[in-house]
Amino acid sequence: MKLAILSRSPRAYSTQRLRAAALDRGHEVKVLNTLRFAIDLSDDEPDLQYRGKQLSHYDAVLPRIGSSITYFGTAVVRQFEQMDVYTPNTSYGIANSRDKLRATQILSRHNIEMPATTFVRDRKDVIAAIERVGGAPVVIKLLEGTQGIGVILAPTIKVAEAIIETLQSTRQNVLIQRFVKESKGRDIRALVVGDRVVAAMRRTAQGDEFRSNVHRGGTVERVELDEAYEEAAVRSAQIMGLRVAGVDMLEGRRGPLVMEVNSSPGLQGIEEATKLDVAGAIIDYVDNQVAFPEIDVRQR
Ligand code: ADP
Repeated sequence: MKLAILSRSPRAYSTQRLRAAALDRGHEVKVLNTLRFAIDLSDDEPDLQYRGKQLSHYDAVLPRIGSSITYFGTAVVRQFEQMDVYTPNTSYGIANSRDKLRATQILSRHNIEMPATTFVRDRKDVIAAIERVGGAPVVIKLLEGTQGIGVILAPTIKVAEAIIETLQSTRQNVLIQRFVKESKGRDIRALVVGDRVVAAMRRTAQGDEFRSNVHRGGTVERVELDEAYEEAAVRSAQIMGLRVAGVDMLEGRRGPLVMEVNSSPGLQGIEEATKLDVAGAIIDYVDNQVAFPEIDVRQR
């Protein structure tokens, strides 16, 4: 197949690994800078310009859209969709997964267990909201944070109120979430490709830090997931419309609690922790979908 990887960082580990995996399997592959596309909408047929020239035909596109360019990046992916180029992650899926509130709303309609979460706008509603999710200590999250930035553990209702007030005064939207104490600074990252988990790791926070992000000094180890965790991960990715996704789960008392579904999961941490060829699994999946497209049941 002829594959385009949409990425602004051709040298990044994930981009390099995906490119190498495609080349190893005899595919033609190009890394295209997402921000160098032009979307011309005047013609009858949808198409794309790249670096000022008409883009040639591709069988598939693998979007790696950073959170800072979600709006333009998803527009480029949407254009590929309209040109009938296969993408494992739709523009709709990427946009939905970027917004923690929207993602939580969608998953909660499909019986996916998540930490109790609430969203309020008016400061008069903050105390009741915190009490509804189980009181302090409570987790406060910025709606568009990544890498653990903007995830705060407030020890008391007073501190929580002050944090929320400060964030709202800078026009930041926040989620209030039950602190899942029993997960003890650990979380699970499951890498979903198609309808299976191809690799999974447990991240453990350092010292008294509660956030297990590697960027916050967390350590990683390979894990074999129970069926409940596999199922929660695969279903969450599918509900979000993502065929390649990193699903983050906390280990709750009664099983998995899904926190987040990431549409451009980093491959370095998980490949190093598990020694598995995740990039190869992604390329094989895309190749298989191009060769044998899934029949959309709604079109039958
Ligand atoms: P980001 O998208 O910035 O990584 P997350 O929502 O994944 O933000 O939170 C970062 C980390 O904080 C998680 O990996 C987890 O270790 C910890 N964490 C997040 N939410 C909770 C919670 N409700 N209870 C306990 N720990 C949490």
